[in-house]
Order: sequence, then structure tokens, then C-alpha cells
Amino acid sequence: MTDLSEKMHKPETVCIFGTGDFGCSLGLRLLQSGYNVVYGSRGPKNSLLLPKGSNVMTHAEAACEARVVFVAVQREHYGFLSSLASDLEGKVLVDVSNNLRRGLYPESNAEYLSRLVPGATVVKAFNIISAWALQSGGLDANRQVLLCGDCSNAKQQLMDIAQSLGFTAVDRGSLRAAADLEDLPLQLFPLWRLPLNIAICLTAFIFFYTLTRDVIYERVTNGKDIAFRIMVSLANKAFPIVSLVMLSFCYLPGALAGFLQLYNGTKYRRFPDWLDRWMLCRKQLGLLALAFGFLHVLYTLVIPIRYYVRYRINVYTISLVKDNKTYEFDNMAAWRYDSYYSMGILGFGLFVLLGITSLSSVSNSLNWREFRFVQSKLGYITLLLCTAHTFLYGWDRFLKPSSYRWWMPPAYMLSLVVPCVVLILKLILITPCVDSKVTRIRQGWERQGKTSANGRDTKTNQPLMA
Ligand code: NAP
Repeated sequence: MTDLSEKMHKPETVCIFGTGDFGCSLGLRLLQSGYNVVYGSRGPKNSLLLPKGSNVMTHAEAACEARVVFVAVQREHYGFLSSLASDLEGKVLVDVSNNLRRGLYPESNAEYLSRLVPGATVVKAFNIISAWALQSGGLDANRQVLLCGDCSNAKQQLMDIAQSLGFTAVDRGSLRAAADLEDLPLQLFPLWRLPLNIAICLTAFIFFYTLTRDVIYERVTNGKDIAFRIMVSLANKAFPIVSLVMLSFCYLPGALAGFLQLYNGTKYRRFPDWLDRWMLCRKQLGLLALAFGFLHVLYTLVIPIRYYVRYRINVYTISLVKDNKTYEFDNMAAWRYDSYYSMGILGFGLFVLLGITSLSSVSNSLNWREFRFVQSKLGYITLLLCTAHTFLYGWDRFLKPSSYRWWMPPAYMLSLVVPCVVLILKLILITPCVDSKVTRIRQGWERQGKTSANGRDTKTNQPLMA
């Protein structure tokens, strides 16, 4: 009985090769979590900054002390491990290494390690966790430990360690996935790059367009300096336009994909790469669109307290008094402005809902149907409301020749092009005859005589000749 309880409470020993930043932080965390830690170092006597309670010895001695050995050494120094092959026989070797850039080596570091020490079982893990995250126990950093390896027992041991360190372990498959895991820390917001570039280009274009049309035109033709409008008026023209165009960019690839499937007569054909990439960053496009929408709301809220607006109202009121005139109530204008504000408020409200449900913590609690309902159905309603809001803003301005300064239409008219295209495409896709065809294709139906995914004629199952 005493033997058993002693065995149950005997702390497990973990070995770490390398006494650098990562090795030290990992050792500290392991000690805090109740493990014994032994370090394998080239100079055991020189290693003075190790966490209290750990032991340091030569690599060979340390390897004999534990079943699990973390290799916290840069890949270019792995050479010494082949001379320790016999000491590491049967051990679980954990590769935590990262590279400075992609494609530096022909094989992943973990596969290289496995080749160097064939008698050991290699698991790739902890490489996306920083030394800092280890010290803070994942409290204010990434908590996920992605791991991969060919032996499920070895992976389970690592999962147990990760869990007792306060992390969540995620199995990413066999050691062949190691290259992908090693690429992860080298990525810098890969899915945000395209949406950010679109947002920057669109904002710059709309800003210079409105600057030319509103400010420079006024200066050149009437000699009036209204450059002060750049700060609020022009910004408040650019932001809603970027927001609306980017929101429609979220739905355009889906509509294009529907038409492409109709054209191909099958869903088993790959979409072009550009469409695939576009579809992958729809969430980021939407969140950026929401951010611009939010800026528009903030800028709109300050309109009544702007000096220029108060000045115009005062001048107008005084002129009415002077001329003894009355400000007539215009029923049509009341309807128009109230509808305009109402569409904007409802559109923005739904837009916020879309943004919230796209966050992983919220979308994880929805089933697929609920998620689709919010992102697709409510998404299109949001686009419709925001487009109506813009139409009401413009009202009949498109009929007035004075709106076309230097033959340039008002910017709001440009902003309506993409949303209208998307809404028209969607309208076509949801008409019963088209919708039933798309639904059948999405359920696996293929048009006879079309090339299927394997490049064969679906009628004859023969390869199609060029
Ligand atoms: P480091 O501070 O440079 O430490 C590496 C350790 O490797 C040294 O302290 C040294 O320990 C040992 N070493 C150096 N040259 C050696 C050689 N020629 N032969 C054998 N051992 C040698 O590096 P680190 O930041 O701790 O990173 C270690 C590994 O963890 C790297 O592969 C890195 O990609 C990975 N990693 C680091 C972080 C991080 O936040 N730092 C995050 C994720 C992954 P001894 O003097 O005791 O032998």
C-alpha cells in the first residue's frame, strides 16, 4: 500500500537539452507543475542561471534520468545528438525548434531529428509557445500547444505534460505535419494581408476622389477654401464607402462560386486559386468592414457639435428671421431622413451581430446551420439595409447635373456598384429554378458530359483528351 502511494506521488522526471531562454523557461514551468527537471548541457559547471530545484549534468547522464527529453537547442546544433543515439534509444524526443525563414531546409527539423536518432520517438510540440508564454503559464499568451508525431503513446505523454503546464494540447497528426507547425510562427497575419491591402487602397482612392471632387473643385472653380472639410466630412465619406464595399466583398465570392458551379455543372471542380484565397479571408474582410462602419458611426455622432454645422444653422435661422420667412415642414424630407437613419441603425446593428458571431468563442457555440443563418441570411439583410441607407442618402442627387463635378459622380454612387452587383447575383441565385439547380449540384449531382474532379467524362467515365 505504502509502495503504491509512493509510486503514485513520485514526480516524473523530464530532461531538457539546452540551458538557453526556452530551456530555462520550460524547466521553471515544469518545476512549478510538480515535475523533476534535469538539464543536459555542454558545460554543466557553467550553467548558473537555471531554475532553482533543477539539476544539470552532461547530455548522456541527463538522458538516462528521464523518458521524455526536450531538445531546446537550435536545429543547426543538432549534430551532437547522433553521438548520443544509444543513450536516447527508446526515449521520447521533443523537437521544439523553429526556423528563421521558410524553406531553409529540405525537411522539417523534427524529421531531421528523427533521422539523426532513429531509436527515439520524435514528437514536434511547444514550438508555437514562446519562452515568455511558458513563464506566464499561458495566462496572457497563446494557450494552445500544437503537436504531431507518429506514435500515439508518445503524443499522449506530451499532451499530459502540456495539460499539467496549463496548456491545451491539440493533436495535428503525424510527423509529416511538422513542417506546417514550423511554418506557423513565421506567419504574420497571413489572412489579414489581402483585406488590409484592399482597405488601404480603397480608403486612399475614395479619399483622393472626394478631395478632388469636393475640395479642389471648389478651390479651382469658385476660389473657395474648404480644405477644413478633410478632417471630418471627407473622412466620413470615405469610411462608410469602404465599409459598404468591403461588406459586399464578403458576399461576392460566394455568389461567384455559385455561378461557377452552375457553369461547371459540378461541385467537384476546384475553384480558381484567387477565388479560394478570397473566400478564406471573408471573415477578416467583414471585421475590417465593421471597423470602418464603426468609425462612420463615431464621425456621424459628432456632426451636430461641429463648428461648421452650427455656423450654417445659425446663418440660415438668422436669414429666415431677417426675411421674415418660415421654415416649412417637408413631409417627404421627414420620411426620407427618418428612413435613411433607420436603415443605417438597423444595418449597423446587424453588422455588429455578424462581427460578434464570427469570433471563434461565439461561433464555437453555434451549430453549422445557426452559423450559416447568421452569416449568410442575416449577412445579406445587412448588406441590403446598408445599401438602402446609401440610396436614401443620395436620394435624387443623381438626377441633378450639378452633382457631376468635372464629370465625376458623387462618391456614394461609386460605392453602390459592388453591393448592387452582389444583390442582383444573389437575387438570381435564389430564384426557384436556379436555386434548385445549385442545391442539387451542392448535394453531389453532376451534369452529364462535364469533366469531374478526376478529369474524367461523367457520362463515359473515360479520361477527357486535350
Ligand atoms: P538559445 O537561448 O540560443 O539556447 C540554446 C541552447 O542550446 C544554449 O543555451 C546551449 O545550451 C545549447 N547549445 C548552443 N550551441 C550548442 C551546440 N553547438 N551544441 C549543443 N548545444 C548547444 O535558444 P532558445 O531561445 O532557448 O531556443 C532553443 C530552441 O527552442 C530553438 O530551437 C528555438 O527555435 C526553440 N524555441 C524558442 C522559443 C523562444 O521563445 N525562445 C520559442 C519556441 C521555440 P548549453 O550551453 O547548456 O549546452
